[in-house]
Amino acid sequence: MSETEHIKELPLVPTTVKLSTEFKTGSWRVQRPIINSGKCVKCLICWVYCPESSIKWDGISLSIDYNFCKGCGICHRECPVNAIEMIPEG
Ligand code: SF4
Ligand code: SF4
Repeated sequence: MSETEHIKELPLVPTTVKLSTEFKTGSWRVQRPIINSGKCVKCLICWVYCPESSIKWDGISLSIDYNFCKGCGICHRECPVNAIEMIPEG
């Protein structure tokens, strides 16, 4: 067997990677973030940290796309002024 022949024996794996933003969260999220616009200082830290790119910034205000938010709470933990509250889903 040549040095590379074993590579042919490896199982096939997908060659394309899909972004998480292509998959809607569905109904399994147990908590959701709520932005208090009165407390928000628009630092955009939550926008940077959201692993699902679910926080939208239009240049004036922030919003959360709950179709893709997983309720992980990172935005809540990173907000420096506690402007994001996590509330139970449903
Ligand atoms: S809870 Fe997680 S996924 Fe949802 S907006 Fe905050 S950081 Fe993004
Ligand atoms: S991290 Fe907090 S203060 Fe900063 S933009 Fe997000 S909600 Fe507003």
